[in-house]
Amino acid sequence: MKDISIPSANLRTTLQPMRKTAFYISVLTLAYTSACSQIQNQDFKKISDAEWKKKLTPTQYHILREKGTERAFTGKYYAHHEKGTYTCAACKQELFSSDTKFESGSGWPSFFKPTDQKSVKVVPDRSYGMIREEVVCSRCGGHLGHVFNDGPAPTGLRYCLNSEALLFVKEKNSKP
Ligand code: FE
Repeated sequence: MKDISIPSANLRTTLQPMRKTAFYISVLTLAYTSACSQIQNQDFKKISDAEWKKKLTPTQYHILREKGTERAFTGKYYAHHEKGTYTCAACKQELFSSDTKFESGSGWPSFFKPTDQKSVKVVPDRSYGMIREEVVCSRCGGHLGHVFNDGPAPTGLRYCLNSEALLFVKEKNSKP
């Protein structure tokens, strides 16, 4: 039988440059991804009110940028049951999964946790004589709604959000 083994010295000289190239590609990819996400985050925070007005509908602008609230039982997602992901309507950051959505009876789309805790920020809200916890998008600062401590297990939280602050991205092969 013919010997097809490659001498180990030859193999080493072939593999070493390949490993180095792969290493440099990984480092460059990581640096690029990190730089892109930083630029993206900074850019959204720098968008002026006038620019947001052009990007959003009047209702979206009122809710996301002026901390408005849509009337209960009027939004497009409070009784929405398709499988998929809810993103921020302003910057499109992924926020909540349909797997964590539940029927709260409040008339607003309700979730018990965000997809990634880093995608939302919770800030104290003392408006209208109430003490509430406001939920904002961590990337663009858009107002999404409020979070309350009367949600279901496993978190016990109820993220009570405005439909107009969200966009739904349907999961492939999902049935209505
Ligand atoms: Fe956002």
